[in-house]
Amino acid sequence: SASTDRFGPVGEGRTIPQDSKVQVGKEKASFVMLIRNQELQDALKSMKQIEDRFNHRFHYPWTFLNDVPFTEEFIRETTKRASGKTEYGLIPKEHWSIPESIDQDKMKAAMRKMQEDRVIYGGSLSYRHMCRFNSGFFWRQELLDKYEWYWRVEPGIGFYCDVDYDPFEFLRLSGKKYGFTITLPEYKSTIPTLWSQTLEFMKKNPQYLNSNSSLQYLLEDKDQGKALSSDPPPEYNGCHFWSNFEIASLDLWRSEAYRSYFDHLDSAGGFFYERWGDAPVHSIAAALFLGTQEVHHFADMGYMHVPWSRCPQPDEFYKYSKCVCPFEKKDSFDLNGWSCQPRWWKIAGKEYGA
Ligand code: GDP
Ligand code: MN
Repeated sequence: SASTDRFGPVGEGRTIPQDSKVQVGKEKASFVMLIRNQELQDALKSMKQIEDRFNHRFHYPWTFLNDVPFTEEFIRETTKRASGKTEYGLIPKEHWSIPESIDQDKMKAAMRKMQEDRVIYGGSLSYRHMCRFNSGFFWRQELLDKYEWYWRVEPGIGFYCDVDYDPFEFLRLSGKKYGFTITLPEYKSTIPTLWSQTLEFMKKNPQYLNSNSSLQYLLEDKDQGKALSSDPPPEYNGCHFWSNFEIASLDLWRSEAYRSYFDHLDSAGGFFYERWGDAPVHSIAAALFLGTQEVHHFADMGYMHVPWSRCPQPDEFYKYSKCVCPFEKKDSFDLNGWSCQPRWWKIAGKEYGA
């Protein structure tokens, strides 16, 4: 892992003095971007918006992770774009490979079948590594050991409103552990047995179910009100927090509950035989292991990741946060029939009027 504390000449003879990169935000927190070298331009696009809208006042560090070494150009250009320290981590091979226990012929057959069925990313091995990494390993990277909080950023996102407070501090002070902007259902064809594996895990480990969990947010309409242990068991509606944006506690994933949940899922093999995404894995864990009030919808943040975007609905938020959303408010994904936001509002309540 290379650390860059060098701030060479920038632009037309200007230099950024070392102390302008002094961290002002007080939380132990970092942005985290898993990214490929060839996505540099989209990384810069994301960084520019997050810096302009938030981080130029807080100077939180950026941590970049990659399964291959970052190029000099990637390091140079992202360092220039950051108002905080930048660090670059090479992911250990064992966090980005197929475990011994996986039957590779079975995996390849499953991948061919999913490709034929046109399941999104169904034929991709690298996508599977990415999902497994984001589920079980990003929070184990050495560079993140010193942090308690992270803000996941993806290349090519849109970030449309000012954030003039510190969301890490907000989460800490309000006792919250996980924050999201968009919620929607997962493609069922990518997770045929994720829910039955979850039920099996919860049956063995009922102590991990939070007494104030968000279980009902995960359940189909016909199963509303059912307990996890009912017979027949309740069905999963696929709703998840879209994990390309997350502001959350690293300790959530470092917890005994989550580690053993991940181990259970990993030995079931579904990251490879199916195509389990980190979004439903994180979301099921957050919904079951945390109390509803520990999960936060950042209703004041405008966000886009292809193909969906959302902006704050109430005028007071929209104006107060100086949003410039390149679409009409009525086209905000929160109001789309495919959104799980109404389900979340139903169990968590709207966090704003209207
Ligand atoms: P999508 O959002 O589900 O369409 O998936 P993406 O292609 O955006 O991948 C999710 C995140 O993982 C993005 O931040 C990507 O840059 C990153 N990513 C995906 N595949 C790889 C990979 O093979 N290597 C690295 N280093 N990053 C990857
Ligand atoms: Mn993406």
